[in-house]
Formats: sequence, C-alpha cells, structure tokens
Amino acid sequence: MLKIPSSRRRIAIYTAHLLKRQFAAASNTTTTTTTTNDNPLLETHALPPFKLITPAHVEPAMDKLLSKYELSINNIEAEINNQSLQGWKIFDELELIEQPIEDAWGVVSHLQGVKNSDELREAHEHVLPNFIKIMTKSSQSIAIYKALEALKSNELEWNNLSNAQKRIVEQNLNGMRNQGVNLEGEKQKRFNEIKMELADLSTKFSNNVLDATKKWSLTITDANEIDGFPSSLKALAAQQAGSEDVEKGPWKLTLDFPVLGPVLQHAKNRKLRETIYMAHVTKAGEENAPIIAKILKLRKEKANLLSYNCHADIGLETKMAGNTKNVNDLVDQLRAKAYPCAIREFEQLTQFAQSHGHDGKLEPWDQSFYSERQREELYEFTQEELRPYFSLPDVLKGLFTLCEQLFNVHIVDMSTTQNDSSNNVQTWHDDVQFFHVVSKENSNEHIASFYLDPYSRPAEKRGGAWMAVCRQRSDLLGRKPVAYLTCNGTPPLKDSPSLMTFNEVTTLFHEFGHGLQHMLTKIPYSGAAGISGIEWDAVELPSQFMENWCYHKPTVDKFAKHYQTNEALPEALFQKVCDAQKYNAGLALLRQLYFGKMDMVLHSTFDPSLGVEGIFELQHEIAKDFTVTPPLDIDRFLCSFGHIFAGGYSAGYYSYIWAEVLSADAFAAFEEAGLDNEKNIEELGRKFANTVLAYGGGEHPADVYKMFRGRLATPDALLRHRGVE
Ligand SMILES: [Zn+2]
Repeated sequence: MLKIPSSRRRIAIYTAHLLKRQFAAASNTTTTTTTTNDNPLLETHALPPFKLITPAHVEPAMDKLLSKYELSINNIEAEINNQSLQGWKIFDELELIEQPIEDAWGVVSHLQGVKNSDELREAHEHVLPNFIKIMTKSSQSIAIYKALEALKSNELEWNNLSNAQKRIVEQNLNGMRNQGVNLEGEKQKRFNEIKMELADLSTKFSNNVLDATKKWSLTITDANEIDGFPSSLKALAAQQAGSEDVEKGPWKLTLDFPVLGPVLQHAKNRKLRETIYMAHVTKAGEENAPIIAKILKLRKEKANLLSYNCHADIGLETKMAGNTKNVNDLVDQLRAKAYPCAIREFEQLTQFAQSHGHDGKLEPWDQSFYSERQREELYEFTQEELRPYFSLPDVLKGLFTLCEQLFNVHIVDMSTTQNDSSNNVQTWHDDVQFFHVVSKENSNEHIASFYLDPYSRPAEKRGGAWMAVCRQRSDLLGRKPVAYLTCNGTPPLKDSPSLMTFNEVTTLFHEFGHGLQHMLTKIPYSGAAGISGIEWDAVELPSQFMENWCYHKPTVDKFAKHYQTNEALPEALFQKVCDAQKYNAGLALLRQLYFGKMDMVLHSTFDPSLGVEGIFELQHEIAKDFTVTPPLDIDRFLCSFGHIFAGGYSAGYYSYIWAEVLSADAFAAFEEAGLDNEKNIEELGRKFANTVLAYGGGEHPADVYKMFRGRLATPDALLRHRGVE
C-alpha cells in the first residue's frame, strides 16, 4: 500500500478522499487545546520532533497555519494579477507557503496511523473541514490557472523548462481543469452540485455496505453445524457471540471478511456455506443498486460538462494507459490466456471434489471449500512453519544487502551508530528504528533516510503495511527525501526475535520498493520527485518488482536461516511456497480481469440511462466471457464494490494488472541477464536505479520504462510468473 502525499497535484484526490471521511464522521465534541506559544507543529524542523508533539498542539497549530496560508494564497493571486509573479516562480512560491502545512499535517496524518488516540482523532476531525476548504482554494484559483496557461503558451519560457517541470505544470493545469476551474455560470453551478452529490452518494454507498454487513448475523448453537471450523475461526465466532466457552458455543457468524472467508473455506456443512454465500453476494443489493445507477449517471454528466465523452476518459488522460482502448486491449489479451486455463482448473477442482465425496456440480459456495482442500493436499505447509526462518533482523540485513548489490547504496542503522546526527532523531515509539541511505557511487554521501516501525500495536496502530512520505526531496527547500515504512509484524518475545510469515516478508520488500523510489529520486522538484506525479497505474512498479526477489532461492538463502539452528530454509519447503503461489492462477487472474472489465465498461461505453436493470444485464453479459460459472441471477457483487463506487479506483481498477505487467517484465530483464550472474545483475540494477527509481514523476512512465528496458513491457512475464500458461 502507498499513502498518496498531499503534494500539489494530489490535492484534488487527497481532499476527495478526506471529504468522504468528513461526511462519515459526525462529531461535535470539544478538545482541550493549548495556546500557540511553543507549539512544535509551528516550527520548521529537519525531522518531526515526535517527543514534543501532543494532540493538544494540533488544532491551534493548524488554525494558525491555515489562516496564514489563506492570506498567502491571496497575496500570490494579487502578485499574479499585478504581474510581479509569473512563470515557474509561482511553483516556488506555492511550495514555500505549503511546506509548513504539509509538515504539520503530514505528522498528524502519520500519527493517526501509528499512535492513534481519541484526542488525536477529535483534533483531526475538528481541523478537517477547514483544511479541505482552504486547500481546495488553491486548486480552484483562476488567477493561478491563467498564469500557468500563460507559462505554457510562452514558447521561450516553456522551452527553458525541464521535462519534469513541464510535467508538473501540465498535471496542475489538468487537475485544476478537472476541478471545474474554467467552467462558467450555470455550468459551474451544476458541476459543483454534482461534485457534492457524488461525494454524498459515495458515502451512502459505503455506509450501506457497512450497515448491511452489520445487520446480518447467524447464531449457531449446535456444534455439529460448525464441523470443520479451524480453532481460530471457532474462537472468533464464539467471541462474537459473547460465549465463555469456545467449544460449547454459541457461535455467531457475520459477513465480516475474517469470518466469511474462513467459513466458506472450512465449513463442512454445505447448507451453512450456501446461506452465508447468498447473504454475501446479495449484500446491500436493494439499497445500493439505485445508488450505483445514480452515480454512473452523474459521473457521465460531470464528464460531459468538462467536455469528455465519459468518466473513464477523465481518469485515463492522466494514466500511463492513456485511453480505454489500451486498457481493453490488455484485458482482452490476458483474458484469452486466463480463460482456457481457468476452465481447466475448474474441471480439475470439480474432479477433485467428486473424488472427495461431492455430488453433482460445484456451486459457488462449494468452490472455496474444495479449493482449500485441494491446496492443502497439494502443498501442505502453513505460514507458521516458515516463521522460524524469517527473523526480522536477518530479513532486513538480506534486504539491505540486496539493495546494496543492485542499487549501489549502503543502508546504515542510525540507532546503533555513534553518530551525532542520530541524537537529534526523535521517534513516536521505542521500537522505531531510523536509517540513513548513503550513495556508494558518491563517496558515501548521505542521500535519504527512513523510519521503520516494524511491529503491530493493535491499541494505537492501524493494521496493514504502508510507505508514506515524511519529507519530499526539494532542492528549493534544501531537503532530502525521508520515508515512513510501517509494518505490522509480530513483536519479539523474551527468548525469540520477531519472526515473520512469508507474507510479511514479501510485504516488507513491497513497501521498501515504494520507499526506494521515494528515496533514490534524482528529480529536484517536489512536484515530481520520488512517487509524486507518477501516473497511478505505474506507481506499483518498483514495489511489486522488489517482491519478486522473495521467490529467488539464492537471494532468500542469504537471509532465511532458522533463528535457533541457523539451518537454511529447506529446498522442498521453499518450492512448495513458490508452487502454491501459482495455484489456480487462471481463475485468480480471470477474476481480477472480470472486475477490471466491469469497471471500465460501466464508466465508458455503458449508457447510464438504462438504469439498474441495464447494469445487471451488462454484468451477466460480461460474465459470459470472464467467469467460468455464470453469476446467480440474484448476484449483486457490484453493490459492495467499494473500490469503484466509494473509493478512488473508478475506471482505474485495471491499474493493479497494468502495474504488474510492468513489474513482471522488469524482473524478467534480470532473469534474462541471469539471476545468478552477479556482474550482470549489478549492472542492470544500476540501470533500474538510474531510470525507474531516479525519474519518478519526472518523465512519462512509458519513456522511463523504455530507458530501462529498451522497449515497452509485454504481458508474457506476468503470465509466466503467475503460472498461466
Ligand atoms: Zn504498493
């Protein structure tokens, strides 16, 4: 996962996301606040002074910073109007006035994720409406928009800009245009109405999903009915029912994924599987079907107001794919490979089920159950068996050594180094480590830093893993990049280090890939440095690329050692991990393509005036090519497809696959060079660092990719890596 920074171009996306949360949060409580004197959030620091910041600082600091920012924007507009400010200097000015807000708000957002508390959440909620209002102002400033247009049409000045600068100008112009900045009169009024209504509908959509999930439950009192439940599921279901005794019950089942998934995988009781499956695929159906129809209609109208044909065209203009045809071509090309493979896998699964006592055809509620049995039979291993081989300190060492080899950088743990600068680094928790990245190419010059917060702390830290920006590289501000890497691994115990599952290992590599692109950037402007300004469908390239190394035995052997015996990870066990990755690959890929296709068609060629009925007819039409068993008539999966109706992925769901084509093809370059040929790998690693990692948002991703690979990516490697052949 990647947290999008609030840098200039992203303001629109960022506030849209925040808007949703604002509507969802209805709170009118008050917090105690301190005065603005001695407020650490108001001072500029090289790194955030975490030990000094408390939730009470948030409101007074943000109030002050936001009013100051509002005044500064007015000043900038006045200077533009009297022609004393123009051209690229506008970006410099904007960056200077935004930096204090980004620093303060960046810390608040970060602490929300890693050191949450009621006080902090309240302070955040109080500041949010004003934050959105004022930050949106600059993205809708007509003066700034006109000045940027003038910059673009002034040939002399334009030609003096670097490609990165040109991209920053164009992305900003585009973002502002799509915020309706140059609409007039009635059109602008209608545009703003639609925007508000869409925000409201998205919130309703996700609230309906939440409510429908909460509303449904099934309490079971007869132990025979839960036959097959693993102990963790039994414990969870007992806990949900408030039972004292896990074995005696009662057990309460819900549609929350941690319950639903395991029930479908493990319940031997077929009727029970059918009941919960039916509840799942019809979830929020009645409530959300009309909302979907309305959203599609309004999105189309909004696109037309901005002179686009359809909603998808707005999004694709700023993506690497460029247009719907390119997306559809890729999706169809992959479907042609995935479909026959999925049919074969489904036949094998059916045979497997029948040879294990199943009668008749496999219904949708049987598929997970028999897949799990087949998987167990084929690859019998558990994540727990792998843990002793992956101690966090060793995995980190291995990851750093790999980066050293590939990218010619050295990573220094500052918490164990006797270095003066480390004394100034404050963290939000004692487990957090701080590292410097130094360039070996440039006589160990310090080029970037990162915090690593490795362990789970359920009481105050959000689940999952992510990379976020602490400091963006900016030569104007004299800043080097600093990243936050946050994971949720198992903490060390008294007599053992932190032991990771294989999933946690690949996740760490993934997030570190994002971090590398942020930290090894060679672009000096914050609007295009690191991950900022990268087309959304290309941003997962370095992260997914890094994951590939976890399936290369010699790389893994460098760090996978049993923490007690020092024994290497057994070859057979490793092989099973790799094979399991490819289990039912055709079905898995086809499913992702089905979602991507639905999303793209609904937002491009579909006519929203066909209403609810038209939507579900279309779903069945597409399912003919993209599923191996047709969906049930009552299937309403679209009614809980939050990614595209409540999240930021509308007309962008395909991005997952698009980026994987790039990351798989990039790794294939290393395979072609010979993964065990150290000299070749080093050379290619440097090339990857000097192209993909260095340029970030400074060049179009297709051009960057060609610099690395000498050609555009093809999906062959993705199909091979996934095992779809
Ligand atoms: Zn990611």
